[in-house]
Amino acid sequence: MAEWRYAKLTWPEVRQAAREQKAVLLPVAAIEQHGPHLPIDTDNVAALAVCERAAQAAPSKLLCAPPIHYGFNEHNMDFPGTISVQAQHFIDYCYDVAVSFARHRFPIILFVNGHASNDPLLQVSARLATLHSDAACALVSYWDLAKDDVEQWRESEYPGGMDHAGEFETSIYLALDPARVQMDKAQADYRVRTKWHYRDLMGGSPVKYVDHLSKMSADGTGGDPTLGAAWKGERILETVSRAILEVVDDLRELPYGPRVDHH
Ligand SMILES: [Zn+2]
Repeated sequence: MAEWRYAKLTWPEVRQAAREQKAVLLPVAAIEQHGPHLPIDTDNVAALAVCERAAQAAPSKLLCAPPIHYGFNEHNMDFPGTISVQAQHFIDYCYDVAVSFARHRFPIILFVNGHASNDPLLQVSARLATLHSDAACALVSYWDLAKDDVEQWRESEYPGGMDHAGEFETSIYLALDPARVQMDKAQADYRVRTKWHYRDLMGGSPVKYVDHLSKMSADGTGGDPTLGAAWKGERILETVSRAILEVVDDLRELPYGPRVDHH
């Protein structure tokens, strides 16, 4: 069985993996408050878990890189524990990491994001890494791969029930490490919802507006963690890890022609 953990390879093995055209999965997340019931590593645990499962299931095609643990998080700094990297630093750092993989001739690098506020910044890092290297560097926020499945079993209200540390993320932690979830402290908090302003992992409002989280939530939760269940989390992890392989296969087979300079 081929090694699926990037960091466990020796340099000749890395060279061989690149020659075999393996894709690199790069989990990116955050250390961030997740209400009084979930540990501050929730986003890291989730993003790493889906990448590990995907790479373990297809080690001839995928490698799981060590995660980028810290993210863009200024809006959560009123809650102890949160670590925030400035936006431009984060874009540049993630770009540098991706381009390093490209320089070692990996053809595909996929940022697998676990923290919503990273998403717009990683779009910039991924696009620039693609345009400035020979690799295809793409981004997926992992919950976007679970939408069709979640529709079939979701119990919390949409929008709002699966925002931050709600039904969705609480379920994932319950599936992976239930002893760390303090369900006795979990409380529903649907936050502010208007016609044009709401937040939910399964689809946010058309208007983008983020203020300090402490202005809209007493304990840092967004959604309904009391509806979290291990079976739901397991379902998300399976659905997403299978979809990650499809995403990579899809990127490999895009029918693009060569670049043309029309000057
Ligand atoms: Zn989270």
